[in-house]
Amino acid sequence: MHNLKKHLYSLAFVFAAFFVTGTQAYSLEIKGMRFGHHGTSLRVVMDMDAEADFRAMVQDNPPRVVIDMPAISGKPVIKRSAMPAEIADIRLEPLAGTYSRLTFMMDKQAVIRGAFLMPAQGAQSARLVVDMAPAGSEVFLKQVGKSYGTLTLDTPTGKLPFAATEGAKLKPIGTVEAPTRPAVNAPEAPTPAAAKDPESLPLVMIDAGHGGFDPGAVQGGTREKDITLAVAKALRTSLLATGRYRVDMTRDKDVFIRLPERVRIARRAGADLFVSIHADSAPEAGRSAQGASIYTLSDKASDAQAARLAARENQVDMLAGAEIPENDREVAAILIDLATRETANQSAFFARQLVAAFNKQNVPLLNSPHKQAGFMVLKAPDIPSVLIELGFLSNPDEVKKLNDETYRKQLADSIAKGVDGWLKAQKR
Ligand code: ZN
Repeated sequence: MHNLKKHLYSLAFVFAAFFVTGTQAYSLEIKGMRFGHHGTSLRVVMDMDAEADFRAMVQDNPPRVVIDMPAISGKPVIKRSAMPAEIADIRLEPLAGTYSRLTFMMDKQAVIRGAFLMPAQGAQSARLVVDMAPAGSEVFLKQVGKSYGTLTLDTPTGKLPFAATEGAKLKPIGTVEAPTRPAVNAPEAPTPAAAKDPESLPLVMIDAGHGGFDPGAVQGGTREKDITLAVAKALRTSLLATGRYRVDMTRDKDVFIRLPERVRIARRAGADLFVSIHADSAPEAGRSAQGASIYTLSDKASDAQAARLAARENQVDMLAGAEIPENDREVAAILIDLATRETANQSAFFARQLVAAFNKQNVPLLNSPHKQAGFMVLKAPDIPSVLIELGFLSNPDEVKKLNDETYRKQLADSIAKGVDGWLKAQKR
Protein backbone atom coordinates (compact mmCIF):
# COMPACT_ATOMS: atom_id res chain seq x y z
CA MET A 1 0.00 0.00 0.00
CA HIS A 2 2.99 2.33 0.34
CA ASN A 3 2.85 3.02 -3.33
CA LEU A 4 -0.47 4.75 -2.94
CA LYS A 5 1.15 7.45 -0.87
CA LYS A 6 1.77 9.43 -4.00
CA HIS A 7 -1.83 10.48 -3.55
CA LEU A 8 -2.62 8.98 -6.85
CA TYR A 9 -5.79 7.02 -6.93
CA SER A 10 -7.14 4.92 -9.65
CA LEU A 11 -10.70 3.94 -10.05
CA ALA A 12 -11.72 0.63 -11.36
CA PHE A 13 -14.33 0.60 -14.02
CA VAL A 14 -16.58 -2.23 -14.91
CA PHE A 15 -17.57 -2.16 -18.51
CA ALA A 16 -20.31 -4.26 -19.90
CA ALA A 17 -19.62 -3.33 -23.47
CA PHE A 18 -22.27 -5.60 -24.86
CA PHE A 19 -24.97 -3.41 -23.36
CA VAL A 20 -24.11 -0.73 -25.87
CA THR A 21 -26.70 -0.38 -28.55
CA GLY A 22 -25.62 -0.50 -32.13
CA THR A 23 -27.23 2.82 -32.90
CA GLN A 24 -24.17 4.95 -32.35
CA ALA A 25 -21.60 5.17 -35.04
CA TYR A 26 -18.91 5.67 -32.48
CA SER A 27 -18.71 5.50 -28.75
CA LEU A 28 -15.91 6.43 -26.49
CA GLU A 29 -14.57 4.15 -23.82
CA ILE A 30 -13.14 5.50 -20.61
CA LYS A 31 -10.58 2.94 -19.55
CA GLY A 32 -9.78 4.42 -16.20
CA MET A 33 -9.86 7.53 -14.08
CA ARG A 34 -7.09 8.75 -11.79
CA PHE A 35 -6.92 11.58 -9.31
CA GLY A 36 -3.87 13.47 -8.11
CA HIS A 37 -3.39 16.41 -5.80
CA HIS A 38 -1.17 19.42 -6.30
CA GLY A 39 -1.55 21.66 -3.29
CA THR A 40 -5.23 22.51 -3.20
CA SER A 41 -5.90 21.68 -6.82
CA LEU A 42 -7.21 18.37 -7.97
CA ARG A 43 -6.17 16.78 -11.24
CA VAL A 44 -8.51 14.31 -12.89
CA VAL A 45 -6.97 12.13 -15.59
CA MET A 46 -9.16 9.98 -17.76
CA ASP A 47 -7.64 7.29 -19.94
CA MET A 48 -9.66 6.89 -23.11
CA ASP A 49 -9.56 4.50 -26.03
CA ALA A 50 -9.36 7.40 -28.48
CA GLU A 51 -8.84 11.12 -28.64
CA ALA A 52 -12.16 12.88 -28.42
CA ASP A 53 -13.45 16.42 -28.46
CA PHE A 54 -14.72 17.51 -25.11
CA ARG A 55 -16.28 20.45 -23.40
CA ALA A 56 -15.71 21.10 -19.73
CA MET A 57 -17.50 23.70 -17.65
CA VAL A 58 -18.61 24.67 -14.19
CA GLN A 59 -22.26 24.78 -13.16
CA ASP A 60 -23.98 25.95 -10.01
CA ASN A 61 -26.77 24.73 -7.73
CA PRO A 62 -25.29 22.40 -6.77
CA PRO A 63 -21.69 23.23 -7.67
CA ARG A 64 -20.39 20.80 -10.25
CA VAL A 65 -17.96 20.31 -13.08
CA VAL A 66 -19.43 18.79 -16.21
CA ILE A 67 -17.57 17.24 -19.10
CA ASP A 68 -19.41 16.60 -22.34
CA MET A 69 -17.95 14.06 -24.73
CA PRO A 70 -19.03 11.70 -27.47
CA ALA A 71 -21.26 8.91 -26.20
CA ILE A 72 -19.44 6.85 -23.61
CA SER A 73 -19.91 3.13 -23.96
CA GLY A 74 -20.43 0.66 -21.19
CA LYS A 75 -21.51 0.96 -17.65
CA PRO A 76 -18.67 2.32 -15.55
CA VAL A 77 -18.86 1.55 -11.86
CA ILE A 78 -16.83 3.62 -9.45
CA LYS A 79 -16.05 2.65 -5.92
CA ARG A 80 -17.19 5.57 -3.82
CA SER A 81 -14.47 5.14 -1.23
CA ALA A 82 -11.84 5.70 -3.90
CA MET A 83 -13.06 9.18 -4.78
CA PRO A 84 -11.13 12.19 -3.48
CA ALA A 85 -12.84 14.21 -0.76
CA GLU A 86 -13.60 17.15 -3.06
CA ILE A 87 -15.86 15.03 -5.21
CA ALA A 88 -19.17 14.03 -3.68
CA ASP A 89 -20.31 11.95 -6.60
CA ILE A 90 -19.64 11.23 -10.25
CA ARG A 91 -22.52 10.71 -12.60
CA LEU A 92 -22.92 9.73 -16.18
CA GLU A 93 -25.90 10.52 -18.33
CA PRO A 94 -26.73 10.48 -21.99
CA LEU A 95 -26.98 13.84 -23.66
CA ALA A 96 -28.74 15.05 -26.76
CA GLY A 97 -27.84 13.11 -29.87
CA THR A 98 -24.81 10.93 -29.39
CA TYR A 99 -23.11 12.59 -26.48
CA SER A 100 -22.56 11.77 -22.86
CA ARG A 101 -22.15 14.00 -19.87
CA LEU A 102 -19.90 13.17 -16.97
CA THR A 103 -20.79 15.25 -13.94
CA PHE A 104 -18.49 15.67 -10.98
CA MET A 105 -20.66 16.76 -8.06
CA MET A 106 -18.29 18.91 -6.03
CA ASP A 107 -18.17 19.09 -2.30
CA LYS A 108 -17.66 22.88 -2.46
CA GLN A 109 -17.58 25.52 -5.18
CA ALA A 110 -14.65 24.78 -7.47
CA VAL A 111 -13.36 26.20 -10.74
CA ILE A 112 -11.58 24.66 -13.67
CA ARG A 113 -7.93 25.70 -13.82
CA GLY A 114 -7.25 23.95 -17.08
CA ALA A 115 -8.51 21.17 -19.31
CA PHE A 116 -6.59 19.57 -22.11
CA LEU A 117 -6.27 16.49 -24.22
CA MET A 118 -3.09 14.45 -24.41
CA PRO A 119 -2.85 12.34 -27.54
CA ALA A 120 -1.96 8.65 -27.31
CA GLN A 121 1.77 8.06 -27.10
CA GLY A 122 3.23 4.60 -27.51
CA ALA A 123 1.58 2.32 -24.97
CA GLN A 124 -0.03 5.28 -23.20
CA SER A 125 -3.61 5.83 -24.33
CA ALA A 126 -5.20 9.19 -25.01
CA ARG A 127 -5.92 11.15 -21.85
CA LEU A 128 -8.19 13.97 -20.89
CA VAL A 129 -6.81 16.05 -18.04
CA VAL A 130 -8.95 18.46 -16.04
CA ASP A 131 -7.51 20.52 -13.19
CA MET A 132 -9.97 21.82 -10.61
CA ALA A 133 -9.46 23.98 -7.57
CA PRO A 134 -11.69 25.30 -4.80
CA ALA A 135 -12.71 28.93 -5.28
CA GLY A 136 -14.55 31.70 -3.47
CA SER A 137 -18.08 32.58 -4.57
CA GLU A 138 -17.03 35.54 -6.71
CA VAL A 139 -14.45 33.65 -8.74
CA PHE A 140 -16.72 30.65 -8.98
CA LEU A 141 -19.75 32.57 -10.26
CA LYS A 142 -17.61 34.32 -12.87
CA GLN A 143 -16.69 30.97 -14.36
CA VAL A 144 -20.12 29.37 -14.35
CA GLY A 145 -21.07 28.49 -17.93
CA LYS A 146 -17.66 29.26 -19.45
CA SER A 147 -16.41 26.27 -21.34
CA TYR A 148 -13.10 24.63 -22.08
CA GLY A 149 -12.49 22.43 -25.07
CA THR A 150 -13.61 22.25 -28.66
CA LEU A 151 -16.74 20.14 -28.61
CA THR A 152 -19.86 21.66 -30.10
CA LEU A 153 -23.13 19.83 -29.77
CA ASP A 154 -25.35 19.96 -32.79
CA THR A 155 -28.71 19.50 -31.16
CA PRO A 156 -31.77 20.44 -33.17
CA THR A 157 -32.52 23.37 -30.89
CA GLY A 158 -28.97 24.59 -31.03
CA LYS A 159 -28.53 24.47 -27.31
CA LEU A 160 -28.00 21.99 -24.59
CA PRO A 161 -30.84 20.45 -22.64
CA PHE A 162 -29.59 21.92 -19.39
CA ALA A 163 -33.00 21.53 -17.86
CA ALA A 164 -32.69 17.79 -18.14
CA THR A 165 -29.64 17.80 -15.93
CA GLU A 166 -31.14 19.78 -13.08
CA GLY A 167 -32.48 18.32 -9.90
CA ALA A 168 -32.47 14.70 -8.99
CA LYS A 169 -32.73 13.24 -12.46
CA LEU A 170 -29.07 12.33 -12.63
CA LYS A 171 -28.19 8.88 -11.55
CA PRO A 172 -25.05 7.78 -9.77
CA ILE A 173 -22.64 6.41 -12.28
CA GLY A 174 -22.93 2.82 -11.18
CA THR A 175 -26.64 2.71 -11.77
CA VAL A 176 -26.92 4.25 -15.19
CA GLU A 177 -29.40 2.16 -17.05
CA ALA A 178 -28.13 0.30 -20.01
CA PRO A 179 -28.45 0.68 -22.86
CA THR A 180 -28.08 4.41 -22.37
CA ARG A 181 -30.61 6.43 -24.22
CA PRO A 182 -30.21 10.01 -25.36
CA ALA A 183 -32.27 12.30 -23.11
CA VAL A 184 -33.61 14.42 -25.92
CA ASN A 185 -35.01 13.41 -29.29
CA ALA A 186 -34.44 9.78 -28.49
CA PRO A 187 -34.13 7.76 -31.68
CA GLU A 188 -36.03 4.55 -32.16
CA ALA A 189 -35.14 1.68 -29.90
CA PRO A 190 -32.25 -0.39 -31.22
CA THR A 191 -33.32 -2.78 -33.91
CA PRO A 192 -32.78 -6.52 -33.44
CA ALA A 193 -30.23 -6.30 -36.23
CA ALA A 194 -28.23 -3.81 -34.22
CA ALA A 195 -28.38 -6.05 -31.18
CA LYS A 196 -26.85 -8.85 -33.22
CA ASP A 197 -23.85 -6.76 -34.18
CA PRO A 198 -20.98 -9.21 -33.54
CA GLU A 199 -18.98 -6.43 -31.90
CA SER A 200 -21.68 -6.17 -29.26
CA LEU A 201 -21.29 -9.80 -28.18
CA PRO A 202 -19.49 -10.35 -24.88
CA LEU A 203 -15.80 -11.12 -25.26
CA VAL A 204 -14.49 -14.16 -23.42
CA MET A 205 -10.71 -14.21 -22.94
CA ILE A 206 -9.37 -17.75 -22.61
CA ASP A 207 -6.03 -18.07 -20.90
CA ALA A 208 -4.18 -21.33 -21.45
CA GLY A 209 -1.84 -21.68 -18.47
CA HIS A 210 1.94 -21.90 -18.81
CA GLY A 211 3.71 -22.25 -22.19
CA GLY A 212 7.13 -21.85 -23.73
CA PHE A 213 9.96 -22.68 -21.32
CA ASP A 214 7.39 -23.12 -18.54
CA PRO A 215 5.75 -26.56 -18.92
CA GLY A 216 3.69 -26.33 -15.72
CA ALA A 217 3.15 -29.68 -14.06
CA VAL A 218 4.73 -32.63 -15.87
CA GLN A 219 3.73 -36.27 -15.63
CA GLY A 220 5.53 -38.74 -17.87
CA GLY A 221 5.18 -37.33 -21.36
CA THR A 222 2.21 -35.13 -20.42
CA ARG A 223 2.86 -31.45 -19.86
CA GLU A 224 0.34 -29.09 -18.30
CA LYS A 225 1.04 -26.44 -20.93
CA ASP A 226 -0.13 -28.76 -23.74
CA ILE A 227 -3.26 -29.87 -21.91
CA THR A 228 -4.24 -26.29 -21.09
CA LEU A 229 -3.78 -25.19 -24.69
CA ALA A 230 -5.77 -28.13 -26.06
CA VAL A 231 -8.67 -27.48 -23.69
CA ALA A 232 -8.48 -23.73 -24.35
CA LYS A 233 -8.83 -24.36 -28.07
CA ALA A 234 -11.71 -26.78 -27.50
CA LEU A 235 -13.39 -24.15 -25.33
CA ARG A 236 -12.96 -21.56 -28.06
CA THR A 237 -14.71 -23.93 -30.46
CA SER A 238 -17.56 -24.61 -28.00
CA LEU A 239 -18.13 -20.92 -27.26
CA LEU A 240 -18.02 -19.81 -30.89
CA ALA A 241 -20.47 -22.57 -31.80
CA THR A 242 -23.12 -20.92 -29.61
CA GLY A 243 -22.97 -17.69 -31.63
CA ARG A 244 -23.32 -15.81 -28.37
CA TYR A 245 -19.69 -14.80 -27.77
CA ARG A 246 -16.57 -13.33 -29.19
CA VAL A 247 -13.51 -15.28 -28.10
CA ASP A 248 -9.88 -14.35 -27.77
CA MET A 249 -6.93 -16.19 -26.27
CA THR A 250 -3.93 -14.90 -24.36
CA ARG A 251 -1.92 -17.51 -26.25
CA ASP A 252 -2.84 -19.92 -29.00
CA LYS A 253 0.58 -21.44 -29.38
CA ASP A 254 3.43 -22.70 -27.23
CA VAL A 255 4.82 -19.39 -25.96
CA PHE A 256 5.66 -18.04 -22.55
CA ILE A 257 3.60 -15.07 -21.34
CA ARG A 258 4.11 -13.50 -17.95
CA LEU A 259 1.10 -13.47 -15.64
CA PRO A 260 0.57 -9.67 -15.49
CA GLU A 261 0.80 -9.59 -19.28
CA ARG A 262 -2.05 -12.10 -19.49
CA VAL A 263 -4.17 -9.72 -17.43
CA ARG A 264 -3.12 -6.78 -19.59
CA ILE A 265 -4.03 -8.65 -22.77
CA ALA A 266 -7.53 -9.22 -21.39
CA ARG A 267 -7.95 -5.61 -20.30
CA ARG A 268 -6.62 -4.19 -23.55
CA ALA A 269 -9.05 -6.35 -25.49
CA GLY A 270 -11.91 -5.18 -23.28
CA ALA A 271 -12.76 -8.73 -22.23
CA ASP A 272 -16.01 -9.31 -20.36
CA LEU A 273 -14.90 -12.58 -18.83
CA PHE A 274 -11.53 -14.18 -18.14
CA VAL A 275 -11.08 -17.95 -17.94
CA SER A 276 -7.66 -19.30 -17.04
CA ILE A 277 -7.12 -23.01 -17.67
CA HIS A 278 -4.71 -25.13 -15.62
CA ALA A 279 -4.20 -28.67 -14.38
CA ASP A 280 -3.19 -29.45 -10.83
CA SER A 281 -0.69 -31.91 -9.44
CA ALA A 282 -0.45 -33.53 -6.01
CA PRO A 283 2.02 -36.43 -6.30
CA GLU A 284 1.83 -37.27 -2.57
CA ALA A 285 -1.93 -37.89 -2.87
CA GLY A 286 -1.62 -40.37 -5.75
CA ARG A 287 -4.93 -41.57 -7.18
CA SER A 288 -6.95 -40.07 -4.35
CA ALA A 289 -6.47 -36.56 -5.78
CA GLN A 290 -8.96 -36.23 -8.59
CA GLY A 291 -11.51 -33.88 -10.04
CA ALA A 292 -11.72 -30.32 -11.27
CA SER A 293 -11.79 -27.23 -9.09
CA ILE A 294 -12.50 -23.58 -9.70
CA TYR A 295 -10.67 -20.69 -8.14
CA THR A 296 -11.49 -17.03 -7.74
CA LEU A 297 -9.30 -14.25 -6.41
CA SER A 298 -8.94 -13.50 -2.74
CA ASP A 299 -6.06 -12.19 -0.70
CA LYS A 300 -7.00 -14.81 1.88
CA ALA A 301 -6.81 -18.37 0.64
CA SER A 302 -9.82 -20.54 1.47
CA ASP A 303 -7.51 -23.31 2.70
CA ALA A 304 -3.85 -24.29 2.87
CA GLN A 305 -4.07 -26.36 -0.29
CA ALA A 306 -5.44 -23.37 -2.24
CA ALA A 307 -2.68 -21.16 -0.86
CA ARG A 308 0.01 -23.64 -1.92
CA LEU A 309 -1.54 -23.97 -5.35
CA ALA A 310 -1.64 -20.18 -5.89
CA ALA A 311 1.98 -19.92 -4.74
CA ARG A 312 2.96 -22.60 -7.25
CA GLU A 313 0.99 -21.06 -10.12
CA ASN A 314 2.39 -17.61 -9.33
CA GLN A 315 5.93 -18.87 -9.00
CA VAL A 316 6.66 -18.99 -12.68
CA ASP A 317 6.75 -15.24 -12.82
CA MET A 318 9.55 -15.15 -10.31
CA LEU A 319 11.32 -17.84 -12.28
CA ALA A 320 11.00 -15.68 -15.36
CA GLY A 321 13.55 -13.48 -13.69
CA ALA A 322 12.41 -10.07 -14.80
CA GLU A 323 11.96 -7.62 -11.97
CA ILE A 324 8.51 -6.10 -11.84
CA PRO A 325 9.10 -2.45 -12.75
CA GLU A 326 8.26 0.15 -10.10
CA ASN A 327 5.45 1.38 -12.26
CA ASP A 328 3.88 -2.04 -12.46
CA ARG A 329 4.20 -2.62 -8.77
CA GLU A 330 2.20 0.51 -8.10
CA VAL A 331 -0.41 -0.56 -10.57
CA ALA A 332 -0.53 -3.99 -8.94
CA ALA A 333 -1.14 -2.45 -5.52
CA ILE A 334 -3.91 -0.29 -6.89
CA LEU A 335 -5.49 -3.17 -8.70
CA ILE A 336 -5.52 -5.39 -5.66
CA ASP A 337 -6.86 -2.64 -3.46
CA LEU A 338 -9.56 -1.50 -5.80
CA ALA A 339 -10.71 -4.78 -7.25
CA THR A 340 -14.34 -3.88 -7.10
CA ARG A 341 -16.78 -5.80 -5.02
CA GLU A 342 -18.86 -6.04 -8.16
CA THR A 343 -16.11 -7.88 -10.03
CA ALA A 344 -15.52 -10.19 -7.08
CA ASN A 345 -19.24 -10.92 -6.86
CA GLN A 346 -19.42 -11.61 -10.57
CA SER A 347 -16.39 -13.89 -10.42
CA ALA A 348 -17.92 -15.88 -7.56
CA PHE A 349 -21.22 -16.07 -9.40
CA PHE A 350 -19.47 -17.31 -12.53
CA ALA A 351 -17.59 -19.91 -10.47
CA ARG A 352 -20.88 -21.21 -9.07
CA GLN A 353 -22.32 -21.42 -12.60
CA LEU A 354 -19.29 -23.47 -13.60
CA VAL A 355 -19.65 -25.83 -10.65
CA ALA A 356 -23.32 -26.35 -11.52
CA ALA A 357 -22.50 -26.97 -15.18
CA PHE A 358 -19.70 -29.43 -14.34
CA ASN A 359 -22.07 -31.35 -12.08
CA LYS A 360 -24.73 -31.44 -14.75
CA GLN A 361 -22.27 -32.64 -17.41
CA ASN A 362 -20.81 -35.31 -15.11
CA VAL A 363 -17.37 -33.77 -14.90
CA PRO A 364 -15.87 -34.96 -11.60
CA LEU A 365 -15.18 -32.17 -9.13
CA LEU A 366 -13.21 -31.92 -5.92
CA ASN A 367 -15.20 -31.73 -2.71
CA SER A 368 -16.10 -28.05 -2.17
CA PRO A 369 -14.81 -27.29 -5.66
CA HIS A 370 -15.01 -23.49 -5.49
CA LYS A 371 -11.96 -22.17 -3.67
CA GLN A 372 -10.22 -18.86 -3.31
CA ALA A 373 -6.59 -17.79 -3.33
CA GLY A 374 -4.29 -15.01 -4.50
CA PHE A 375 -3.68 -15.97 -8.10
CA MET A 376 -1.83 -13.21 -9.95
CA VAL A 377 -3.57 -14.00 -13.20
CA LEU A 378 -7.00 -13.27 -11.68
CA LYS A 379 -6.21 -9.68 -10.73
CA ALA A 380 -8.02 -7.69 -13.39
CA PRO A 381 -10.07 -5.22 -11.33
CA ASP A 382 -12.83 -4.97 -13.87
CA ILE A 383 -13.14 -8.39 -15.47
CA PRO A 384 -14.84 -11.30 -13.70
CA SER A 385 -12.10 -13.94 -13.65
CA VAL A 386 -11.80 -17.59 -12.71
CA LEU A 387 -9.04 -20.16 -12.83
CA ILE A 388 -10.04 -23.73 -13.56
CA GLU A 389 -7.87 -26.66 -12.50
CA LEU A 390 -9.08 -29.35 -14.85
CA GLY A 391 -7.84 -32.27 -12.82
CA PHE A 392 -4.66 -33.83 -11.43
CA LEU A 393 -1.73 -34.71 -13.65
CA SER A 394 -0.30 -36.64 -10.69
CA ASN A 395 -3.16 -39.10 -11.01
CA PRO A 396 -2.58 -41.57 -13.89
CA ASP A 397 -6.33 -42.01 -14.41
CA GLU A 398 -6.82 -38.30 -14.87
CA VAL A 399 -3.78 -37.99 -17.16
CA LYS A 400 -5.40 -40.56 -19.40
CA LYS A 401 -8.66 -38.61 -19.48
CA LEU A 402 -7.01 -35.24 -20.04
CA ASN A 403 -5.14 -36.70 -23.00
CA ASP A 404 -8.43 -37.86 -24.47
CA GLU A 405 -10.01 -35.50 -26.97
CA THR A 406 -13.56 -36.60 -26.16
CA TYR A 407 -13.09 -35.82 -22.50
CA ARG A 408 -11.52 -32.47 -23.35
CA LYS A 409 -14.58 -31.62 -25.43
CA GLN A 410 -16.79 -32.61 -22.49
CA LEU A 411 -14.77 -30.24 -20.30
CA ALA A 412 -14.97 -27.46 -22.88
CA ASP A 413 -18.73 -27.87 -23.30
CA SER A 414 -19.18 -27.79 -19.53
CA ILE A 415 -17.21 -24.57 -19.23
CA ALA A 416 -19.24 -23.08 -22.09
CA LYS A 417 -22.44 -24.01 -20.22
CA GLY A 418 -21.07 -22.18 -17.18
CA VAL A 419 -20.39 -19.13 -19.34
CA ASP A 420 -23.98 -19.35 -20.57
CA GLY A 421 -25.17 -19.31 -16.96
CA TRP A 422 -23.18 -16.17 -16.36
CA LEU A 423 -24.50 -14.50 -19.52
CA LYS A 424 -28.11 -15.28 -18.66
CA ALA A 425 -27.75 -13.31 -15.45
CA GLN A 426 -26.39 -10.32 -17.36
CA LYS A 427 -29.49 -10.02 -19.49
CA ARG A 428 -32.24 -10.11 -16.93
ZN1 ZN B 1 -0.85 -24.34 -13.80
